[in-house]
Amino acid sequence: MHLILKPVVQDTQLFSGLKLAHIDEAQCTRCNQCVKSCHFQAIDDDIRVHADSCEGCGVCAYVCPVHAITMVDRESGVAYRSQTRFGPMAHAVLHTAEEASGKLVTMVRNMATDLAGTLNKDLVLIDGPPGIGCPVIASITGVDLVVIVTEPTYSAIHDLERVHAVALHFHIPAVVCINKASINDDNTRAIEQYCKDHALRLVGTLPYDLTITQAMIHEQSIIEFSDGPLTRDIRAMWQNITEVLYGR
Ligand code: SF4
Ligand code: SF4
Repeated sequence: MHLILKPVVQDTQLFSGLKLAHIDEAQCTRCNQCVKSCHFQAIDDDIRVHADSCEGCGVCAYVCPVHAITMVDRESGVAYRSQTRFGPMAHAVLHTAEEASGKLVTMVRNMATDLAGTLNKDLVLIDGPPGIGCPVIASITGVDLVVIVTEPTYSAIHDLERVHAVALHFHIPAVVCINKASINDDNTRAIEQYCKDHALRLVGTLPYDLTITQAMIHEQSIIEFSDGPLTRDIRAMWQNITEVLYGR
């Protein structure tokens, strides 16, 4: 997304995810309780906290007999408000080895909602992560429609079923797009059958097409790069999605 959309950052906001244990050396009696209690070996024998290993669980602060440990905020990432040639964009970077990315997704979504409100936009597109973990749940809660992009591979079909179950659980309408459909006809048919069996609308079936790679090499979206069959398929899919969204 960054490479293709080339966002020009207009505003940044620091993100604080997990807390970090902080030891007040002046109060510490070196009793070693915290070292023994930390399941992540984040406190060494010199009673120093290693930020990369600390999971912010707070056990050390709980067991410290002299209350020498406090849990403090730490910078876990940065969120950005940017402008692109397609319109405004909210996005973020999570620092290496940091967790709580679901919380970061929520922060970015709130920024996007504010942007949409300020600029009078009626639609926010969220590029969700793969899989079905916490960031996916943070991405889809409260949305009007989930577009599940899948591929004819066993792992992708498995994820499709699980994301669909999550969408059902939250009562969120979902539709399906099969990407790279031509790489395995049998699995593509299996996905089509799954959609039929579960009354899931198939909004698009896109073949594997090297034009996508060429567009990426030229740092363009496929729509800008080519007016070929794949672009026409994507435009038709967008038409199908708006039909579901707006009933037209
Ligand atoms: S907060 Fe948890 S992980 Fe971090 S140092 Fe304390 S006990 Fe270890
Ligand atoms: S538990 Fe508290 S007093 Fe004991 S070593 Fe850790 S910080 Fe120091």
